[in-house]
Amino acid sequence: MVEALGCAQRALDAGEVPVGAVVVCAGRIVGRGWNRNLTDNDPAAHAEIVALREAGRNVGNHRLGDCELFATIEPCAMCAGAAVHARVRRLVYAPTIQRRVQSIRFWR
Ligand SMILES: [Zn+2]
Repeated sequence: MVEALGCAQRALDAGEVPVGAVVVCAGRIVGRGWNRNLTDNDPAAHAEIVALREAGRNVGNHRLGDCELFATIEPCAMCAGAAVHARVRRLVYAPTIQRRVQSIRFWR
């Protein structure tokens, strides 16, 4: 989790929303990610997605069943879904302060 927090700091330094994530496999970090939405002009470039992609490349498999994903915030639906598709063994996330759910408008 300390490494994931370091990744979140990299996002903050880049002017991104400070979220970080790492993927650990057999005690070794195989993927690191931090939010890169603005940097990459990519709405899917959340920290968890970036970390899972790097882990897949390093492990040589899109299935990460022996890996764990650590994130500095509870993953959004997209990232949680990606973790499920990757078959990560465990997802660990830092709890956030209590947030109030507000309505989300996709269209104006
Ligand atoms: Zn996400």
